[in-house]
Amino acid sequence: LVSRKKKPEDTIVSILNENIGDGNAHFIMGPCAVESYEQVKTVAQAMKKQGLTLMRGGAFKPRTSPYDFQGLGLDGLKILRQVADEEGMAVISEILDPNDMEVALDYVDVIQIGARNMHNFELLKVAGATNKPVLLKRGLSATIEEFIYAAEYIIAQGNDQIILCERGIRTYERATRNTLDISAVPILKKETHLPVVVDVTHSTGRKDLLLPTTKAAIAVGADAVMAEVHPDPAVALSDSAQQMDIAEFNAYMDEVKEFAKVV
Ligand code: PEP
Ligand code: MN
Repeated sequence: LVSRKKKPEDTIVSILNENIGDGNAHFIMGPCAVESYEQVKTVAQAMKKQGLTLMRGGAFKPRTSPYDFQGLGLDGLKILRQVADEEGMAVISEILDPNDMEVALDYVDVIQIGARNMHNFELLKVAGATNKPVLLKRGLSATIEEFIYAAEYIIAQGNDQIILCERGIRTYERATRNTLDISAVPILKKETHLPVVVDVTHSTGRKDLLLPTTKAAIAVGADAVMAEVHPDPAVALSDSAQQMDIAEFNAYMDEVKEFAKVV
C-alpha cells in the first residue's frame, strides 16, 4: 500500500498549517528531550521567530543505558502541549510503549516511532490504528526494504499519514555517530508515495555537519529536515554534544532558508 506503483501521486501529510510533501522544505526542530517548561518555551519562541511550527521533543526517551535520563514521560508531553498551544505549534514526540498510545493522543499531533522500535510490530499496528500522522524512523541496521515493510504495517491498519525518516544507519565508520544514507531519500521517494524527512542530528552526531547534510538532504529531494535545538546544550540531559544552541540555530536557519530558495 505504500508503493508508488499502487498510488503514483505523492501523499501529503498535513500538520497544522504545513503540508509535508508539497514540494517545499519543512523543518522539524526542538530539543532531544523535554527537560522543563522554560527549556521548551525558549526553543519554541526561537522557532516561532524563524517561522517554524513543527516542534519535536522526547518525553519517553529510548536511552541506550538504563541509567541515563529516561525522559519526563507524560509530564513531558503535557509541557510540549502547553507550549505548542501557547505558540501555535504542533507537537511531534516519540511513543515507546503501545500502552501509552491512547493517552498520548491527547497531547501529540504526530506520533514518532524511534529507530529502536522500527521493528516493534505491535507498536506499529497501534500507531496505524490511530488517526494521527506517524513519523517512522529507519531502524539502526534496517535495510530500505525492511523500512518500507515497517511503514506497510502502519498503512495496513488504515493510517496512510506516514512520514519516513532517514536517521543514519550503523556502519564501520566512526567519524560520524551513524552513517547518513543520503541515497535512501531518492530511493524512498521513488519506491513509495510517502514524504521523507532527514534527521541530521542523529545521523551525524556532529554539529559541524548539520548544515552541509541539511543542504544535501534538500538537494536530493527530502520533504523535511529534523534537527535538535537546546537553550544550553552543555547541560542537556541527552545528546548534549550535538544539539544546536539558539544562536547556532538562528545562523543555521538563515543559511538553510537561503539555500532552499535556490534549490
Ligand atoms: C529522537 O529523535 O529523539 C531519537 C531518539 O532518535 P532515533 O530514534 O533516530 O535514535
Ligand atoms: Mn537526541
